[in-house]
Amino acid sequence: MMTTTLHPCDVVVIGGGVAGAAIAAFLAPWRRVVVLEREAPAGRHATGRSSGMLLPSYGGEAARPLSRASLRFFAEPPGIFGGDLLTPRPTLHVAGPSQIAALAALAGELPGARLFGPTEAARRAPLLRAGRLAGALLEAEGGDIDVARLHAGFLAACRRSGGQVHVGVGDLTFARRGSVWRVSAGGVTWAAPVIVNAAGAWADEVARAAGAAALGLQPKRRTVLLFPRPPETAGWPTVKDVDERFYFRPCSKALLFTACDETPSPPCDAQPETLDVAHAAALFSRLSRQPEPRPIRAWAGLRTFAPDRAPVIGWSSTPGFFWFAGLGGFGVQTSPAAGSLAASLLLGRRIPGDLLDAGVRPELYAPTRLTSTGAARTA
Ligand SMILES: Cc1cc2nc3c(=O)[nH]c(=O)nc-3n(C[C@H](O)[C@H](O)[C@H](O)COP(=O)(O)OP(=O)(O)OC[C@H]3O[C@@H](n4cnc5c(N)ncnc54)[C@H](O)[C@@H]3O)c2cc1C
Repeated sequence: MMTTTLHPCDVVVIGGGVAGAAIAAFLAPWRRVVVLEREAPAGRHATGRSSGMLLPSYGGEAARPLSRASLRFFAEPPGIFGGDLLTPRPTLHVAGPSQIAALAALAGELPGARLFGPTEAARRAPLLRAGRLAGALLEAEGGDIDVARLHAGFLAACRRSGGQVHVGVGDLTFARRGSVWRVSAGGVTWAAPVIVNAAGAWADEVARAAGAAALGLQPKRRTVLLFPRPPETAGWPTVKDVDERFYFRPCSKALLFTACDETPSPPCDAQPETLDVAHAAALFSRLSRQPEPRPIRAWAGLRTFAPDRAPVIGWSSTPGFFWFAGLGGFGVQTSPAAGSLAASLLLGRRIPGDLLDAGVRPELYAPTRLTSTGAARTA
């Protein structure tokens, strides 16, 4: 008969991507936290496959306040993050003749941004075939995030406060006895009154396994290509289509490009599909002045969305079950503020003033908005 060791703690976080790592870092000073990541190393799914961009206007009404509230953290990260996390880089939102209304609408939402006509737009995005450009908007804030260092820093902060991070734990089982969850794998059981569902694309699966209501989260595959980069492009802005049909930016010695595909997928180890790569390469070829650009590498990852595309942060109607998921295409850039918000909600504390000042409204993220009962309960 297999013997099981039982480890009591206060909070078990399921998933060790940037979301699980962030909430663990904010909780660990106050609670005994254990992060359980099925795979090794942590961060090999969405977190390890992102484009690493911080673009404050990105992600719609619900994500923007969390991005804004994260700017200070990226500008001055705590020492445990080991140095700068952000290389500043503006974003040029570009528009063709049929997209001028979209560009004007974005300009209305970003009062500090600079609007350019076709000539200046072409000068600032010299890689694009000029005839395609009718205007552009320069968003100065933002840049390239060192995602690996951000993720490692959150995990280090968790450990430094006494939290534990277990990677490669394999498949977990869930049971609830009284007011305590028992989460088990490989002969080990962690017992805690609270579990946090930070399982990314698998978050609905984890909810079902624990007997909580799934929320209809949909993972969507996005494909990223690297092209050779002319040396003079290092300081160029990120160039993004105003309707998010593509974006590209310098990335180390390459140019990172995506055709912004969003193909629904089951949760999985997403791989670049031949057709998606071909479509993206053909689009880049049509847009670019480079002669016959050929990708040097491609990867794919899953961006996971709630039906209303807002993050899911808060208590489930199942006692002791807390959600931190549905982070779409903005889970890295929002992670400092979203982690702080999630920890405050879980601990039942006041939302930090810097989040409120940035316009963060926790009700926008409540999981219960997506269930028929709508009733929130705490542990
Ligand atoms: C191509 C692409 C580009 C992107 N670009 C950007 C960008 O520029 N900026 C930005 O902010 N965001 C970007 N994103 C989005 C960002 O990567 C995600 O929002 C973020 O990484 C989500 O983090 P997560 O921790 O929720 O998910 P994940 O990183 O996927 O982590 C979830 C973890 O849970 C684990 N897990 C699942 N089930 C279990 C289980 N049963 N038991 C234990 N562990 C489990 C998984 O193994 C995984 O490691 C991009 C995403 C993609 C795919």
